[in-house]
Amino acid sequence: MSTVSIPEFKNLVGGELVEGVEGATREVLNPATGEVIARVPEGGAADVERAVAAAREARIGFRDTIPAKRQELLLAMADVLDAHAEELAALEIANVGKPNSLAAEEMPICSDELRFFAGAARTMQGQATGEYGEGYTSFVRREPLGIVGQIAPWNYPLMMAIWKIAPALAAGNVVVLKPSELTPISTLRYAELVAEVLPPGVLNVVTGDGPGVGQHIVEHPEISLVSLTGSVGTGKNIARTAADTLKRVHLELGGKAPVVVFADADVKAVAESLRVASFLNSGQDCTAASRVLAVPEIYDALVEELAAAASSLVVGDPAEGEQVEMGPVISARQQERILGFLDRATSSGAELVTGGSAGRDAGFFVDPTIITNVGQKSEVVQSEIFGPVVTVQRLDSADQAIEYANDVPYGLAASVWTRDVAQAMNAIRQLDFGCVWVNDHLPFLSEMPHGGFKESGYGKDLSIYALEDYTRIKHGMIKLS
Ligand code: NAD
Repeated sequence: MSTVSIPEFKNLVGGELVEGVEGATREVLNPATGEVIARVPEGGAADVERAVAAAREARIGFRDTIPAKRQELLLAMADVLDAHAEELAALEIANVGKPNSLAAEEMPICSDELRFFAGAARTMQGQATGEYGEGYTSFVRREPLGIVGQIAPWNYPLMMAIWKIAPALAAGNVVVLKPSELTPISTLRYAELVAEVLPPGVLNVVTGDGPGVGQHIVEHPEISLVSLTGSVGTGKNIARTAADTLKRVHLELGGKAPVVVFADADVKAVAESLRVASFLNSGQDCTAASRVLAVPEIYDALVEELAAAASSLVVGDPAEGEQVEMGPVISARQQERILGFLDRATSSGAELVTGGSAGRDAGFFVDPTIITNVGQKSEVVQSEIFGPVVTVQRLDSADQAIEYANDVPYGLAASVWTRDVAQAMNAIRQLDFGCVWVNDHLPFLSEMPHGGFKESGYGKDLSIYALEDYTRIKHGMIKLS
């Protein structure tokens, strides 16, 4: 009888690969099959304490590095990522159930983000030095915060970790990062690889769940800022806990992106774009195009095009080959949650145009789903489902578009489809979302800020604004005589 050995991954603390302090481990699954693919340390308070101690040791030395040195380190991190892109993509495919093409596309994006922040490290600016008080010179210093805690979600494990680590290190902070307990392995492997280029203790990665590790990061008095990418509920818990030590919080939370389609839109182009933007990563994307608002003139044609686009997606285990365009959702729990939303919606009169079921026996699949006949206040319109589900609402007229688009608790991203420049400009101004696309949905750039309004959180990822979020401002004032 042959036994297949399961790879074990370790935490990175103080430049060393270590097991958990208590020695406990957690099994990591492939969501396309439900099989165990790895074991990782299951941490607790003692693991956070050990990581903070390592970060403390590294903090002053790293604070005092010049920006050019930090640029060099981030460029080296990008090179390491490029050199191991295939291996890291394979871990994401196995652990998240991503199609091969998506995982492969993400890797150069991650290294581009590292290279952007490598350059950005050298651009931090303050107000001009000057004599604002009679007989005094004043100046502004932009300083790192010290030790920052970072907590990542499961949907884009490595990319979300890079969105956090890169600006934090560029600004001169040291990091204690917790990946999601569901998808830790690409981050652990990348941490192992960059341990070769980073000074010890500058990046520490500790695995475990929210209550076991996350909570202790948020409570720790020596951690100056906690950055979370996760759900709204977790964001609220973290903000409450952080209040006890008055640490800063940076929250990238859920979304429910509207897609506003006006009468002059190219309906085929909308459907073609949403075939990707609604179902990429099985719809487990905070900016996923999940809520279509269509004016009556194009409603029927759009529903028809969207149904054809969704049902043409090739769904399967990415291991089956390159033809797979959509994999599973992350867990049995998430699958049940999504099907629960669909059950409740259809029992209250919603119509399934396509999809609506689990699709396969093994693994955690949900078919690409389009639902119509849903009210503005219905649960499927108001709550983030985080799966391959799109609602389509028929507006009474174009006047209702902005009101309906804004009428959800979230404010992360939105798109508007029209050929009329004035209509597009007005919509961008009126929409309460951190990003508004016109005639597209989903692209993002290292140079441009990503972050939400309302219950989608506060603080920005990417861009120079993320770098600023990981700094503090100090006034230096010198008496001249
Ligand atoms: P989640 O909130 O369940 O978990 C996120 C992370 O928080 C995990 O690492 C988890 O272990 C940790 N955590 C949970 N409870 C905690 C606590 N009390 N204290 C400290 N840490 C805790 O989210 P998820 O299910 O992993 O990710 C999906 C969510 O993330 C969705 O809502 C999605 O929209 C959001 N997301 C947002 C963005 C963005 O940029 N705004 C990007 C990706 C994902």
